[in-house]
Amino acid sequence: MSQFEFISSSEDHPGSSSATEEEILAKAAHQALSERPRISVRLRISLVFLLCFLLTSAITVALIILISRISERQFFLETVANFHFEILQARRFEKNFFLYDANLQDALDQITKAKTILETYEAEIQSVIGNEDFEKMRSSLEQYDQQLHHLFRLRQDSSLQRSKEQEIIEKELRAAGTQILQYAADVILQERYRMHTLIHTSTLTATGSLVLLLLLMIYMASFLARQIVRPLNRLERHTQRIAAGDFSPILPARKYRDEFSNLTIAMNTMVYELKSHQEELMQSRKMAAVGTLTAGIAHELNNPLNNISLITESLLDDFDDYPENQKKKMLGDIFTQVERASGTVRNLLDFTRMEKPAFVSLNIKEVITATLKLITNEAMLNNVELELDLNDDLPLIKGNSRNLQQVFLNIFLNGIQAMPTGGKLSIHAAKTDERLIRVDVKDTGSGISAEHLDKIFDPFFTTKEVGMGTGLGLSVSYGIIEKHNGKISVQSQEGAGTIFSVFLPYTMNHTK
Ligand code: ADP
Repeated sequence: MSQFEFISSSEDHPGSSSATEEEILAKAAHQALSERPRISVRLRISLVFLLCFLLTSAITVALIILISRISERQFFLETVANFHFEILQARRFEKNFFLYDANLQDALDQITKAKTILETYEAEIQSVIGNEDFEKMRSSLEQYDQQLHHLFRLRQDSSLQRSKEQEIIEKELRAAGTQILQYAADVILQERYRMHTLIHTSTLTATGSLVLLLLLMIYMASFLARQIVRPLNRLERHTQRIAAGDFSPILPARKYRDEFSNLTIAMNTMVYELKSHQEELMQSRKMAAVGTLTAGIAHELNNPLNNISLITESLLDDFDDYPENQKKKMLGDIFTQVERASGTVRNLLDFTRMEKPAFVSLNIKEVITATLKLITNEAMLNNVELELDLNDDLPLIKGNSRNLQQVFLNIFLNGIQAMPTGGKLSIHAAKTDERLIRVDVKDTGSGISAEHLDKIFDPFFTTKEVGMGTGLGLSVSYGIIEKHNGKISVQSQEGAGTIFSVFLPYTMNHTK
């Protein structure tokens, strides 16, 4: 059977002929759990990790773009620096020409290189210093180049006219050269500033991403706690409740169906099976108890009836032959057997009596002392020492004195009978924190074996010889204490002794 089919097949279980309220609730819980839209915890966790991965990838891509832009700018900066250098070199050669009449060709070569750089990076330089300044820079370079060429041509001429023209060109060359250098320095300055901004942005992006990732990690931790730890805690609370005997199904608490819903369905199935098995167990225990009861009644009544039958038979057969005193003895025996049978019936009646006996306010100390008077002789004969420890301030209880005396008499006599070679019977009574009076009756007798311990309250269960015990004492006592809203429990160790504890609720916190 699949775990999801258990409710529909509930009719298969013994004792579940019609759908009880609990079964309807279990069915509703099962349906609600199975019908929820499926979003597994695994999927949710995977999604969170995917989100993390995407975010980390986006941050990495952004940082890569920023770094490549920085390296582009770096390259451009170097180019502009080269341009600046070419112009400086040209100006140096120009100066040498004027001072030492050196070769002008070198200056022309430097300017050609500078012009190539300017043409190649035109767009970029424009974006840095703007169109207008770029055009001015270009025209200055053009002018410088032309003047250099002019000067180059004038070198061939040795007239006076040349030296005059040369003077004019020298001035113009200086002005154009200074201007170009000024523009180049401007580009370098601005580019440096741009690079600074880019590096600053990258630092900010890296720091911001780190903070974002940290926040995401915190969210993920709380998300995981919500998704895993919380349902686990909830299931733990439910298992405690189930362990305490509450078999009601676990109801859905989440919007979606996930691994925990499946676990809940499985647990509900388990609880359902557990409950049915417990019922089966109780049923078989009841049957066993009825069996013991029937066998007990048959045995307890059959024995005296058999004896009566044997005695009357022999009286009928040989009535005239028996002497008078023998006849009297035999009739006495018949009376004893009738008494024994009616004792069994009386016990049985006590055991099955349904009506509630009259309850009055009682002092438990008085009930116990009155009962003790009945067993003092028996204790003395069996060499049993009695020890009494009853608190003086015991509160009053509501109960029936005769019934309670019957309970304590049973327990005391059982204790004495468990110590055939003597021992000690201690009786201790005190209040508990749960508004109960606890009476402990402890003996140092034979104790009860583990195998018998859970049977001693069953009717007709006895380990005593025929005629010594009926096996009704404790079962009757159990019924009486239950009617008093109390409970009775036992602790025993074979060979060491037994403690019977009777708990009775008290109503008033004062003694009589
Ligand atoms: P009965 O005394 O007629 O046998 P009870 O119901 O009073 O019937 O007790 C059932 C069984 O419990 C006893 O036969 C005995 O085996 C066991 N029992 C009860 N009290 C004690 C005790 N104090 N020590 C040892 N065994 C005990």
